Amino acid sequence: MAQTLDCSKAVEYLSTYSEKDGLSVHDLMDNKLHGGLTYNDFLVLPGKIDFPAKAVDLETKLTKKITLKTPFVSSPMDTVTESNMAIHMALLGGIGIIHHNCTAEEQAEMVRKVKKYENGFINDPVAISPSTTVETVKAMGQQFGFTSFPVTETGKVGGKLVGIITSRDVQFHENDASPVSEIMTTDLITAKAGISLAEGNDILRKSKKGKLPIVDSEGNLVSMLSRTDLQKNQDYPHASKSFQSKQLLCGAAIGTLESDKQRLAKLVEAGLDVVVLDSSQGNSVFQLNMIKWIKQTFPDLQVIAGNVVTREQAAQLIEAGADGLRIGMGSGSICITQEVMACGRPQGTAVYKVTQFANQFGVPCIADGGVSNIGHITKALALGASCVMMGSMLAGTSESPGEYFYRDGKRLKTYRGMGSIDAMQQTATNANASTSRYFSEGDKVLVAQGVSGSVLDKGSVTKFIPYLYNGLQHSCQDIGVKSIVALREETIKGNVRFEIRTASAQMEGGVHGLYSFEKRLHN
Ligand code: IMP
Repeated sequence: MAQTLDCSKAVEYLSTYSEKDGLSVHDLMDNKLHGGLTYNDFLVLPGKIDFPAKAVDLETKLTKKITLKTPFVSSPMDTVTESNMAIHMALLGGIGIIHHNCTAEEQAEMVRKVKKYENGFINDPVAISPSTTVETVKAMGQQFGFTSFPVTETGKVGGKLVGIITSRDVQFHENDASPVSEIMTTDLITAKAGISLAEGNDILRKSKKGKLPIVDSEGNLVSMLSRTDLQKNQDYPHASKSFQSKQLLCGAAIGTLESDKQRLAKLVEAGLDVVVLDSSQGNSVFQLNMIKWIKQTFPDLQVIAGNVVTREQAAQLIEAGADGLRIGMGSGSICITQEVMACGRPQGTAVYKVTQFANQFGVPCIADGGVSNIGHITKALALGASCVMMGSMLAGTSESPGEYFYRDGKRLKTYRGMGSIDAMQQTATNANASTSRYFSEGDKVLVAQGVSGSVLDKGSVTKFIPYLYNGLQHSCQDIGVKSIVALREETIKGNVRFEIRTASAQMEGGVHGLYSFEKRLHN
């Protein structure tokens, strides 16, 4: 009978094995026999837990010069990222990339809203002019659901503040034709622009007023604080802000046409921090020339180039001056590029091949598309990505553009590919929209590379991103790494181990064998 080994030497005994259990990332991804892998084709093996999940640091690089507290980026799609999404992504430690299926002016205005946003301050309060009638104010109350409006000489934010009108002023006023100048409060308590939220809240509390208009040194209306928002104001410790201005970080996408140069100038003027060159095949002379032009014209602007899925593509963009790369072709949930164009790559392999090359040059990479759960995020980061870009995961939240609608008893929002016929037709009818991602201007027949569909209501990103954040911390804890940086380093050293997942292993790893179940992801 074989001799039983000494239990007290079990760990020491491990060193007699020439190899660790599982596969190194190299053995997993560089194996030519099994072809390209997607996130679902493999698993990460658990390591040792000797720290709390809360201790896991999710700080990461978006570009050479921009570091974020979380690796979450929202896609430049017209059903995902406009200013509201971009504001909340930045507040929660990620960044939003504003889409370009709109005029340059509209896109610049969205960027401006993000840059001007101050947590707790109402930056675009509805202002009225002194000649506005009581009747109009009552109607506006119905429309907006609130009845306090600052009154400025011009009737706009930026005009000289002359009064404030509240529900009490209009409620019992019988002559609907009176101008508000006759009944508004002119004895105003205001605060100067630049005060902190805490200072503003303090003034509101002491003054017992409902609203505190914020004015500049000339008395022009800048923004407003509202007592009703006091309780709602949250703290955002991870917020992505620029060091100098303390404003939220904002990204935006453009194409590579000549007209995109003027578009970019407007975005930069609005305060843009990072531009994403939006192309499904980034290795083109148009993009290489655009990168060089941007680097010469706006040297402080960070440029994310792409999309790429091979190191040959990546090398060209890195040499042209890209500060970050976006990886993915055909992996998006709404995407039919691989079917139609025959081009693309399974996302796991694409992320590994590109990041292993680009990381040597200090160029961070975003894994874009195909992320549909926290495990996919962990896998993308383990393979070498610094951030993940998400479309479908964030579509259907209350911060994404579009109205909710009901179908089959479910509350839904539209989510569509930017290469879907729907989206391209909107681009084609709007001569000033940026057109170059999926078709050329002269094209008579549109060839779709995406579909249009719907996704379930996901609630607010203010709950969803913290769910991803906590989940990712727990995932790293299971693997035994204390940060995203450690995840990548330990993977390269061969200490984080992997396993191929067969089709039946994938079935086993999902819910199975139940008659029915409800999949609730967070509270
Ligand atoms: P998702 O997170 O899997 O939904 O993928 C989102 C990503 O799909 C985006 O960030 C884009 O890179 C990509 N994408 C957006 N629209 C289209 C399209 O129409 N066809 C192909 N890919 C698209």
